[in-house]
Amino acid sequence: MPDVPAWLPYVLTVFLAVCLGIFFQRLARIVRLLRAGRARENRWDHFGRRVVALISLGIFQRKVYRSPAVGVLHAFIFWAFVILGASIVEITAQGYAPGWQIPVPEALRGPLYLAEEIVATLAIVGVFMALYRRYVVRPKKLMHEGFLPATIILVYILGIVTTVLMYDAAEIALSGAQALPAWRPVGAALAAVSVVLLDPTFFWWVFWAAHVILLYTFLAYVLYSKHSHILFALFNSFWVDLEPRGAIRPIDLEKTETFGVQRVEQLSLRQLLDGFACTECGRCTDNCPASATGKPLDPMRLIVNMRDTLLEQGSAILAGRTEGLPNMFATVHSEDAIWSCTTCYACVHECPVMNEHVPKIIDMRRHMVLMEGKMPAEAMGPMRNIETNYNPWGIGWDQRGKWAEGMGIPTFAEDGHDAEYLFWVGCAGSFDERNRKVTQAFARLMRKAGVKFAILGPEEKCTGDPARRLGNEYLFQTLAKENVATLNRHGVKKIVTACPHCFNTLKNEYPQFGGNYEVIHHTQMLDELMAAGKLKPVKPVAATVTHHDSCYLGRYNDIYNEPRRILEALPQVRTVEMTRCRDKGFCCGAGGARMWMEETIGEKVNHRRLSHVLETKADIVATACPYCLIMMDDAAKTKDVDARLERADIAELVEQSVA
Ligand code: SF4
Ligand code: SF4
Repeated sequence: MPDVPAWLPYVLTVFLAVCLGIFFQRLARIVRLLRAGRARENRWDHFGRRVVALISLGIFQRKVYRSPAVGVLHAFIFWAFVILGASIVEITAQGYAPGWQIPVPEALRGPLYLAEEIVATLAIVGVFMALYRRYVVRPKKLMHEGFLPATIILVYILGIVTTVLMYDAAEIALSGAQALPAWRPVGAALAAVSVVLLDPTFFWWVFWAAHVILLYTFLAYVLYSKHSHILFALFNSFWVDLEPRGAIRPIDLEKTETFGVQRVEQLSLRQLLDGFACTECGRCTDNCPASATGKPLDPMRLIVNMRDTLLEQGSAILAGRTEGLPNMFATVHSEDAIWSCTTCYACVHECPVMNEHVPKIIDMRRHMVLMEGKMPAEAMGPMRNIETNYNPWGIGWDQRGKWAEGMGIPTFAEDGHDAEYLFWVGCAGSFDERNRKVTQAFARLMRKAGVKFAILGPEEKCTGDPARRLGNEYLFQTLAKENVATLNRHGVKKIVTACPHCFNTLKNEYPQFGGNYEVIHHTQMLDELMAAGKLKPVKPVAATVTHHDSCYLGRYNDIYNEPRRILEALPQVRTVEMTRCRDKGFCCGAGGARMWMEETIGEKVNHRRLSHVLETKADIVATACPYCLIMMDDAAKTKDVDARLERADIAELVEQSVA
């Protein structure tokens, strides 16, 4: 190794102190801002599960691979930095103690050099793949930030890994066999060329200095860039939401004075952390049905704007001087944008760093509804209907069991002692003309299969799903408590329902209010009954069928296979998938109480979904949700494909075949 000049350790120390000082000063600032978040959440429970999440989601980045090509190029770069960590320490140390080596067993030194060279080379490939993607492929979702920020980072990474290889080459040129050239094939090849070109000592100094300068200025810069995710995504993985996906966090209505959020500091530390964990990859926006159909909602911007607001207003927030500052509806997302969300969960599901968009949107809605009494005018009627008649349709509450007239179906109040299942019908299944037919078909199928069930009839009330998703937590909790009291009074243990929204609320949210039941969806029951031979499909359903996944069944509750198994069991059915299916499914547009709001901006979400259905050339679109059925029906009629596309619930198709 060349001798180190006497002044070098001093200069190096000052340089490292400045770079590390910038890094830690920025880190301290971010931590102070995160701690300014006032909402409290316990994310230290289930410690073991959290460690597993950190390893699988944070370190092995399981979700990044949902997009395989991007996952591979990301992995090249990420693992290069992890494995190069050892050599980075060793290279820096040369400025103080030339020749110092990380103390590893001699037998491992060669393989370690080889591993370093492999990952450094792969990282170079990864950087060029990333540059190609940005400059040649130019995916729309990455164009929001322009080219400069990402290019700076990519050039930095390229410089850091290239100088490692060049430094290897210089070591080999200087020390020969002692530098283990056989284990450093890239370095050895570069050394062979460079020896001809340059003086090896000069060569060594140039690349040592270049590597150290690039590495530590990168460190100083990284927390000022979106690459802060390198650090904060790890915390996001550990503090991942372990509650059921479909459960919105309740508000303690008695102890809380301000409901929802309108200022960033009203969010929790974990919610604020999302902004610094965001990679700005655009996957959330790319998969958002509201964004795709021209609404002002952009889930990535929601997260990024929240972070930028926190940084911009940080000094005032820390000093407690926030009066007069613009609120989140001005700096993060407009009211229109917040109302555009269908709560389809695609954004959260796709996010590689476990960011949580939907709870923030619900919190902003809660502020509008509960603090300012604001909601879209069209939604007011259905909410009033829920208050007075316990259903958004506004039909008399005593008519809830009308669909069952003449069918001899018992209610729990009259004769439910024999029932194994409560059939929870839901508002759509009880009051919507089209969905009443589905309810009746499913009831007949249960009868045929010998399932003992009863209904609540007029005692059933809306589960409160639309009220909660609209932000009216007060109305939701009133309904939830009343329903839980009724269910517990009747000693209900098992519930089956054909509505994924009721299914999700009963299963995942009612435990928050003491309602613990075994809840299944009608597709799960039908699948079981068919597998057990209690329902035998015999008549051909000679048609091409495509299944539309309901968000509340699929992404929220992982029920993808049961509907498909049922369809495939019907004689002569030919099933065909839409491009966006299963967990990539595209919302019908009704969730998040959007069913009860006008869609005045952009293309209608159900029209876009219908176009996906039509692309398959299917004769029938099968649904497993009353709201999806209404939305598909509405789109087919508006788009004039009423005659050539049948819309049917899966239960209706089963009944056609077993009848
Ligand atoms: S939940 Fe769905 S509609 Fe709402 S922001 Fe996320 S992707 Fe968009
Ligand atoms: S929130 Fe998640 S999915 Fe959206 S841009 Fe950020 S990292 Fe990507």
